[in-house]
Order: sequence, then structure tokens, then C-alpha cells
Amino acid sequence: MIESYDFLKSVLDTITDHIVTIDSDGDILYVNKSWDSFGQSNACLIDSAWHGVNYLNECDKAAVMGDDLAARAASGIRAVLKAEEDKFYFEYPCHSPTEKRWFMMRVTPFVTQEDTYFVISHQNITERKLIEEDVLSLSRIDGLTGIPNRRYFNEFIENEWKRCHRLSMPISLALMDLDHFKLLNDTYGHQVGDECLKSVGRVLKGFSKRPGDISARYGGEEFAILYGGTNLEQAKVLTIELLNEIRSLNIPNEKAPTLPTLTASIGLAEMYPGNKNSEIDLIREADKLLYLAKESGRNKISLFLDSDA
Ligand code: GH3
Ligand code: MG
Ligand code: MG
Repeated sequence: MIESYDFLKSVLDTITDHIVTIDSDGDILYVNKSWDSFGQSNACLIDSAWHGVNYLNECDKAAVMGDDLAARAASGIRAVLKAEEDKFYFEYPCHSPTEKRWFMMRVTPFVTQEDTYFVISHQNITERKLIEEDVLSLSRIDGLTGIPNRRYFNEFIENEWKRCHRLSMPISLALMDLDHFKLLNDTYGHQVGDECLKSVGRVLKGFSKRPGDISARYGGEEFAILYGGTNLEQAKVLTIELLNEIRSLNIPNEKAPTLPTLTASIGLAEMYPGNKNSEIDLIREADKLLYLAKESGRNKISLFLDSDA
């Protein structure tokens, strides 16, 4: 029984991985039951109508239509078919309208007396991918305020800098530091201070709505707000509004010499990314301006070009 065709076929049909076997031309010779039933309700590199189908041609057709994943799959499979590689692993998303899903494709050859064949299996790796996504997003979020942390900000500004460089667009950065925050902590306690930081975080969430924007906690009571594709004038309007909103929180800081409520200072800089500058220059510039805003009385914005708001 164990060596019988039916027994082995049942084993293959019971496996939850989707399995297809192709010959060295890419023609499909066999699919298991999981492949068939998955193919009936889904696309994503798997199709139920497999008789007489060439797997590589199907990938190529999808690649021509702009499916980059199919193009990468085809090139990886070809490398194994030509014995340039002894195996090919490929993780790819295959989301349905209602569900996120990922699969791992593995391509491995086996040799018989007549020919070499290739087993392509697709294993559902959604559970692992979802955990990876959670871990990634947790590692990017500041635990206290719930907004992006400095690590994610650094990643973001690097990408946004490159994007604005390609598109010859300006990029503006506001570095904001809460005024006399040590006094607030000393007067009302550290826990009240924490609640204030959370409130500021909530305000900041409303100030980074576009894909090229980010508001992040940069350090203790310092925040960074990046506006990709935005010039200084536009960013100035937004940051004036931001300072107003923070004042409107009406958080008491009665011993502060500036105002008896919580205020913030901002250094706002704009740059056009080019070959001779980098995002580090933009951060440095905004930091210098923040220092100026503090020196010249706090509760204000210092801009590039030395003008104040
Ligand atoms: P300035 O107007 O010059 O910025 O004065 P400041 O008091 O805000 O600046 P300073 O750098 O002297 O103090 C910053 C304070 O921010 C001290 C620190 O305890 C507080 N702080 C930093 N992180 C946190 C936090 O997570 N929670 C609380 N409650 N306080 C924090
Ligand atoms: Mg500070
Ligand atoms: Mg401060």
C-alpha cells in the first residue's frame, strides 16, 4: 500500500502547500489538490486551468502586464532550470480584497533516469508575515506618544530626501522643542509631563497627513515634522498653526517665564536636495534655527532667512 501510486497521490493531495511539477521547458506535468482548489478562487501565480499550460509563459505574460513579482519568479525559476542555481526561494504577497496573504515559492529539481523535473511549492506564510509586520511597526513607534520614533524618522527622511531629489522638489523640516518642560515636570510631576507629551503627540498626528509627511518624537520633549515636496512658505503656515494648537491645549506651566501655559519653539528649514547636500544638512540647519528660536525668547518659529513668525 505504502508504495502504491494512490497512496503517494493521497499524501501529495493532503499536503496544504500548493505543489506543481514542471519539466525543463516549463510545461506543467502535475499539480496537487491544494493547487487546484486554490487556483479556482485565486490568481497570484497560480491558476486552476493547468493542462497544457507552460508555467514560465504564464509568468512572462503577467510580467509583460507589469507584474514585477511574476518577472522575478520567472527569472528565478529559469536560473534553476538552467542549473545556474540549485534552488530558488521567493516570498511574495498575494492579497485578496478581504485578506492579507503571503506565500513562499520554492523551486527544487529532481532527476530521474529519463529527465530532470522541477517541483515548485507555494507555502502560505501569512502568519509569520503578519507577526513581522507587527514587530516592524512596533519598532517604529514611540511607546509613550504613539507617533513614529526617531529611528523611523531617520529612515523616512532618507527616502523622502531621495524622492524630492528625483522630482526636484523642496523639503521642509521643523524641529520643535517644548519650552521650559523641565519646569513643568518639576511643578506638576513627571506623570503630568508624560500626559502633556501624549497630548502633543495627538496634535502632531493631525500635522502629517500626506504620504511625504511625518511627525515623530525626536528625543525627550523634542519633535520633528517633515514636509516632503513642501516649500518654506507652505511649511511656515502649517507650523504657525501647530504652535497655535499647542498653546490652545492650555496646559498649565505656571512657573514658566514665557507664558503660564505650555508653549513650544520651532526651527524651520527648507532645502532642495541635490548632489552637494544631504538630509543631515537639513537637520543641522533646523537644529541651529531651533536654538535661535530659544535664544530669542521661545514660543516662536525661527526660519531660514532669519525671519521670525
Ligand atoms: P527649554 O525651553 O530650553 O527647552 O527648556 P526645557 O526645560 O524644556 O529643556 P531641558 O532640556 O532643560 O529639559 C527638558 C526636560 O524634558 C527634562 C526632561 O526631564 C524632560 N523630559 C524628557 N523626556 C521626558 C519624558 O518622556 N517624560 C517627561 N515627563 N519628561 C521628559
Ligand atoms: Mg530639549
Ligand atoms: Mg525644551
